[in-house]
Amino acid sequence: MTRSTLVLHLCALAVALLITACAESPTGRNQLLLVSEEQMAAMGDQAFQQMKQEKPRVDNATTSEYVNCVARTITGAISSSYNWEVAVFEDDAVNAFALPGGNIGVFTGLLKVTKNQHQLAAVIGHEVAHVIARHSAARVSSQLATELGVSILAAGTGMDPRLIGTGADLLLSLPYSRGDETEADRLGLQYMARAGFDPRESVDLWRNMAQEGGARPPEFLSTHPSPGSRIRDLQEYMPSAVQTYQQARAAGRRPQCVP
Ligand SMILES: [Zn+2]
Repeated sequence: MTRSTLVLHLCALAVALLITACAESPTGRNQLLLVSEEQMAAMGDQAFQQMKQEKPRVDNATTSEYVNCVARTITGAISSSYNWEVAVFEDDAVNAFALPGGNIGVFTGLLKVTKNQHQLAAVIGHEVAHVIARHSAARVSSQLATELGVSILAAGTGMDPRLIGTGADLLLSLPYSRGDETEADRLGLQYMARAGFDPRESVDLWRNMAQEGGARPPEFLSTHPSPGSRIRDLQEYMPSAVQTYQQARAAGRRPQCVP
């Protein structure tokens, strides 16, 4: 059974059981969601705590403020109920993530590849989009459904709270699907543009990322589609993103986050 057939099958079953476990993503894709928003936030918070305990944080105030400035500008431009928190980790890996509950992590290695605030905004916008579109809820749901069977559906009350720990581990290990990545690119471009960052810089960023290849390709690339195919997708959405960007600038949104 393919993943989409499985989702449809489980969605149909959820409807049969009168459980509203099926939801639409912001761009209209069907998702199977067995886990409530609150439960996802609890998993995201737990996974974030774990990371903060295990990894050293950057102790340069300027660097920390720079990343916070970009993240704050983006989360301020979108509507969400989260109280966003940002952590900058001292780590050479070219990587960043955002977790349900409004937790954003950026590795210092990423700052060597993002040449300016717009390029950093492209990565943060993309990661925040994964959270807003609830991609983790969808992948945690199907993984739990596959592992535990549909019996968790039959309970009718959503997920067993004892599974929060399992979910937190899944959050840190499960890759996003190709469809999730395309949606996050498309939404992320809109989010950065709405915040007043130049969406065209995202194309340069993925080019820098590709050039970083060689002996040790950026970690971000190992979990994401190839820059070539992403650049083609981005260019398709670019005209509307540029329009959004120009409106944001005209409305006075001109962020100046300094590295
Ligand atoms: Zn992604």
